[in-house]
Amino acid sequence: MKNITSVMLISTLSLNIACTSMKNTEPQQETIVDATLANNPFMTKSTLQYQAPEFDKIKDEHFKPAFDYGLKQNISEIEKIADNAEAPTFENTVLALEKSGEVLKRAQIVFYNLTGSNTNPTLQKVEEEYAPIFAAHNDKIYLNSKLFNRIKAVKTDGLDSEDKRLIEVYKQRFELAGANLTDAQKEQMKAINAELATLGTQFTSKLLEARKKGAVLINDVKELDGLSADEIAAAATDAKNAGYEGKYLLTLLNTTQQPILQNLKNRATREKLFKASWFRAEKGDENDTRATLEKMAKLRMDKAHLMGKSSYAELNLMDQMAQKPEKALDLLAHLATPAVAQAKKEASDIQKLIDEQKGGFSVEPWDWNFYSEQVRKAKFDLDENQIKPYFEVRTVLEKGVFFAAEKFYGITFKVRKDLPVYHPDVVAYEVFDRDGKSLAIYYLDFYTRSNKNGGAWMSNFVEQSFTTHTKPVIVNVFNFQKPAPGKPSLISYDDVSTMFHEFGHTLHGLFANQKYTTISGTNVPRDFVEFPSQINEFFALEPDVLKNYAIHYETKEPMPQSLVEKIKNAATFNQGYATTELVSAATLDMAWHSVTSENQFKPTLDFEKEVLQKYGFTLPQVPPRYHSPYFAHIWGGGYSAGYYAYMWSDVLNSAAWDWIKNNGGMTRENGDRFRKYILSVGNSVDLNQAFRDFTGKDPEITPLLKDKGFVK
Ligand SMILES: [Zn+2]
Repeated sequence: MKNITSVMLISTLSLNIACTSMKNTEPQQETIVDATLANNPFMTKSTLQYQAPEFDKIKDEHFKPAFDYGLKQNISEIEKIADNAEAPTFENTVLALEKSGEVLKRAQIVFYNLTGSNTNPTLQKVEEEYAPIFAAHNDKIYLNSKLFNRIKAVKTDGLDSEDKRLIEVYKQRFELAGANLTDAQKEQMKAINAELATLGTQFTSKLLEARKKGAVLINDVKELDGLSADEIAAAATDAKNAGYEGKYLLTLLNTTQQPILQNLKNRATREKLFKASWFRAEKGDENDTRATLEKMAKLRMDKAHLMGKSSYAELNLMDQMAQKPEKALDLLAHLATPAVAQAKKEASDIQKLIDEQKGGFSVEPWDWNFYSEQVRKAKFDLDENQIKPYFEVRTVLEKGVFFAAEKFYGITFKVRKDLPVYHPDVVAYEVFDRDGKSLAIYYLDFYTRSNKNGGAWMSNFVEQSFTTHTKPVIVNVFNFQKPAPGKPSLISYDDVSTMFHEFGHTLHGLFANQKYTTISGTNVPRDFVEFPSQINEFFALEPDVLKNYAIHYETKEPMPQSLVEKIKNAATFNQGYATTELVSAATLDMAWHSVTSENQFKPTLDFEKEVLQKYGFTLPQVPPRYHSPYFAHIWGGGYSAGYYAYMWSDVLNSAAWDWIKNNGGMTRENGDRFRKYILSVGNSVDLNQAFRDFTGKDPEITPLLKDKGFVK
C-alpha cells in the first residue's frame, strides 16, 4: 500500500502550494531593526551549496521571530502590489506576487519538514499557535479583490507559455479561494469555512475518542491465541494503561481491517474486533460522527453553489487532471467490475481452505486476512526472514535505487559528509546530471523515531526556480527499524519498494526545470503527483537492477532466482480485495461530494448502502477501506473528493510503464524521453497533453488491470 503511506507527501506539497506564492529574491534587509533578528539564519539566504538549510545554526527559537517578520514583510509586499498606481503588468503583479514572502517561505519550509520528521514540544507549540495565523494570512492574499483584479487585467501579449501558465494557476487559486465573490458572498463564504473548520475539528476529536472507546477488552489470554508474545505484551500494557490491569486491550487502527485479524485464531475474537472497528462511530452516543459529517457534506455543497458550481466535487476537481467528477467516477467504475470479480475468486479460494479445514462456516470480513495469509503461504511459500538478508539498506539505495537512476537517466551520486544535517542519522548526497554538472542536494532520513510522523515521504527544503536561481534540495523520510549497534540494517521487500517510490518523487523534484516555483517540480495536481513515484517502483524488480542490489549481506551471494520468482508471483496476490476496498472508499468519497441538491442527502448509513449497491460493491466480505463514519481522509483530512487521485495516478504509471516496456525498456533514450515530457515539466504545461506527448495517446486502463493481475 505504498500509495497510502505517501499521504505525507501530499500534505507537505499542499504546504508548498500554500506558500510558494510568498517569495522574494531580495530580502529587505534594510528593514531589520530588531537585534534579535540579526543572527536569525532565516533572514538571509543560506551560504551552503544550493542554499541548503544551515542546520548547524538553526535553533527552535529562530522560527517565531522569522515568521513574525516574514508575515509582516509579505503583507506589505502584497499591499504594494495591490495598490500600485501603474497599470498591471506581468512583472509588477504576477511576478511580484511570485517573488514575495521570501523570509516566510524559507522559515516555513524548514519548519514543516522538522515538525514532520524531528519534532519536539517547542515546535509543536509553535505549530499550533501559527496554524490559524497562516490560514488568515492566506485569506488576506487570496481574498484580496484588488490584487485579483490586477491579475485578471494583466495582458498576455508577448508572454511565453510558462508565464501564461503561471497567470492561469494564480487565477484558479484565487477563484477557488472565493476571490470572485461579492463582498456579501465573501462573508457567507468565510462563515461556511469557519463552520466547516469547526465541524472538521469536531469530527476528528469525536473519531479519536470513538476509536479509543472502541478498543476490545479481553479477559482471557486464550482468546488471543495466534498473536505473538510481543503483541500480547502490548495488549497487556494497553489494558494496564487504561486501568484494566491483568486484562488485554485490542486497540483500533484507522482502517476497517485490523492487522492483527491476520493472526487471531479465535473466530469469536476476530468477529468482536472487526465489529468494534466497523461500528466505532455510530453508537448514538456523544462520539457518533454521523450528524457532523452529514452537516459537512451539506455545507460543502452550499459552498460549491455559492461559487457557481453544481457540486463540491465539481469545484474541487477544477484544477485536477480529471477536471470533472464524472471522469473520476468513470475510472472508478472501470476498476470496480474486475476488482470485485477478482475478489470473488479470492473469496472462493479462502472458502475452499475453510472447508478443507472443516471450519463449517462461510467466510466473513473478519475471516479474510486470517485465511488469505494461509493461502498466500501455501501458494507462494514466501518467508520474509528468507528475503531480508538480501536487502541491506545502503546497498539497496546505492546499488539499486541509484543504479537504476544512472542506467535510465544517466545521473550519478556522491556522499556529502560535510553538510550539516538535522539529526545524526540523516545522510546527504550530491546529485550530478547526465553531463556531469552538479544538479541537487539529496538527504535521506531512514529510521523510525518517536518524534517522527508515520509513513514515508518526499519533501523539498529548497525548490527549483530559474527566477530565484535555486536548485533542488530534497529529503526522503522513512520509518525503517533502526538496527542494533553494529548490526546490518536489513529491510523487507515492501521497504525496498517504498525506497524506489519515494525516490520517484525525488526525481520529479530533481529534474524540475521551471522559471517559477509555483509550477515547478512536484507542485502538480493531486491526481498526477503519485505517477512519477509509482512508476519508479517498477525498477525494483527489473532483472538487471534486482541482481545488482539483492546481495546477501554476509555471503555476498546474489538472491537465488527461485526467491526472485516468489517475490514476483506474490505481487498480485489479494489484489482483488485490496483494490475493491480502495475503489469502494474512493467511490463513497466522490458520491458524498457529488450531491447537487439537498433532497439527495440521506442518513449516513442509507446513503452509503445505496452508493455501494449502485456501483456494484456487492461482496459483503469486502467492505470499504473506510466506512463513512470513520473516513477521516475526507471529513478530517485534505482528501475530500480527492481519494480517487491514487487510482488516477496508478492508471498513468501502468500505462507509461507499458509504453516503456514496448519501446525498448530501460534505455537511456527512454529515460531522457520520460524526463523531457513528464519529470521535468512540473505543472508548467497541460499534464493530460504531457502524457499524450510521452506515449502518443491518452492513458488506457488495461495495463493497470494487467499489473493487478485482473486480466492476462
Ligand atoms: Zn508517494
